[in-house]
Amino acid sequence: MKILVTGGCGFIGTNFIRLMLQKHQDWSIINLDQLTYAGNRLNLLDLEENEPRYTFVQGDIGDRELVMDLLSDHSIDAVINFAAESHVDRSINDPSPFVKTNVLGAQNLFECARQRNISRFVHISTDEVYGSLGPEGQFVETTPLAPNSPYSASKAGADMMARAYFETYGFPILVTRCSNNYGPYQFPEKLIPLMYMNAMADKSLPVYGDGQNVRDWIYVDDHCLGVELTLLKGKEGQAYNFGGNAEETNLDVVKTLLSVVGKPESLITYVADRPGHDLRYAMDYSLAAEELGFAPTVDFETGLKKTIQWYKENQLWLDQVQSGEYRQFMDTWYEER
Ligand code: NAD
Repeated sequence: MKILVTGGCGFIGTNFIRLMLQKHQDWSIINLDQLTYAGNRLNLLDLEENEPRYTFVQGDIGDRELVMDLLSDHSIDAVINFAAESHVDRSINDPSPFVKTNVLGAQNLFECARQRNISRFVHISTDEVYGSLGPEGQFVETTPLAPNSPYSASKAGADMMARAYFETYGFPILVTRCSNNYGPYQFPEKLIPLMYMNAMADKSLPVYGDGQNVRDWIYVDDHCLGVELTLLKGKEGQAYNFGGNAEETNLDVVKTLLSVVGKPESLITYVADRPGHDLRYAMDYSLAAEELGFAPTVDFETGLKKTIQWYKENQLWLDQVQSGEYRQFMDTWYEER
């Protein structure tokens, strides 16, 4: 199978490509990524250099000509769209790039894939499209979409478009909605790597509000396995929820992290809450369990320890990402070849 993966130089895309090329010797992957601040080509440089089944293409999912050419030149069997602007705080600052990539870019991909008769399309969405829960209950796939941030609104826009493409054109699209991911290669603006870096530098750990917001945490490989199952077994037109069975308050996540790295809780500081901050997300993934055979395999504490171990062993990656050095490095790296 030949797959076009978009956004593969980001956190989840990188883990997905690594895992799938390892698992499926007969798969090849073309990774289309614009390399925004969140995309790091170095994540997969070893594959670029040594793995003939992997190809990198720099470009925008919103570029009609480029995507049309890619889809015909490479006789693609399936498309998986991870590409997105993904950080809620940045979307509050400026929603425009979120609309451009997450709505218009996604629609462009759907349209190109439809015109090229692609037979399978998996669009990666998020639990945030459902809005916020109170202390009880869980999101199911039929929960009405009620996004509260510009990020989640832009993701919900693409989900609606995906639905319309299925209903109107019979386009073979499937949507995954997953809870908070964590694991290797996560950009250090997100909660776990940010708190890890601050803790290691003995800097304060900023927690929004009272820290009681609840997220369901899933180890990134489990999400990737859910995407694989959706691709291979999912029903066209269906959205599937995925979760990690690990509801934690933000405060508990930070406290567990501090205990794993052996730093004091006195580093925690409380900062003004994020506007429109959703209180709680929780996923009912029984549809994915029944139809696809999905079950998360990594519990939160084990996953957190694995993640911290990875960051410890990859301090250079963190330093480079933080300083923007990897961009300069990339320029000279390729000039020298
Ligand atoms: P990320 O920000 O780490 O990576 C996004 C990637 O997309 C980057 O490599 C970036 O360069 C690329 N990109 C951005 N705009 C592009 C464009 N116009 N054209 C081509 N490439 C572009 O994001 P992530 O955390 O890996 O998330 C991947 C997907 O999973 C997103 O769609 C996100 O909404 C969804 N998701 C993420 C989480 C999570 O916890 N991280 C949870 C559920 C769903």
